[in-house]
Amino acid sequence: MKNFLKKYLLYIIRWQLSTPVLAIVLIVLATTNKWTATIVANFIGALIFFWIDRLIFKLNHSNPLWEVKNNIKCYDCGKECRGYRLVKYKKYDRLNDINPQFRCETCSIKKSEK
Ligand SMILES: [Zn+2]
Repeated sequence: MKNFLKKYLLYIIRWQLSTPVLAIVLIVLATTNKWTATIVANFIGALIFFWIDRLIFKLNHSNPLWEVKNNIKCYDCGKECRGYRLVKYKKYDRLNDINPQFRCETCSIKKSEK
């Protein structure tokens, strides 16, 4: 939730940053049709803010994402039990792992401490 609010606040601030782009274009193109001037302003804004928006939404989640699965064979010790694997945390990303490695609780704790 904290992360969501941070992103939301950044996004609101970023919208305010588009104010000068809009204002400058509307001043420069004051003699042209208002619709045309707004279209030009939005086009320039899109060129700039696509990259900023991308950064805002890419901000890392602070909580690790785990997958839990029953009846797995631990990748490290071979024990059959409930398994855990870290899926996503900061730059660690195994969301599209084709060979996911599940570990028993003991082994997954050992692995995550490394
Ligand atoms: Zn194990």
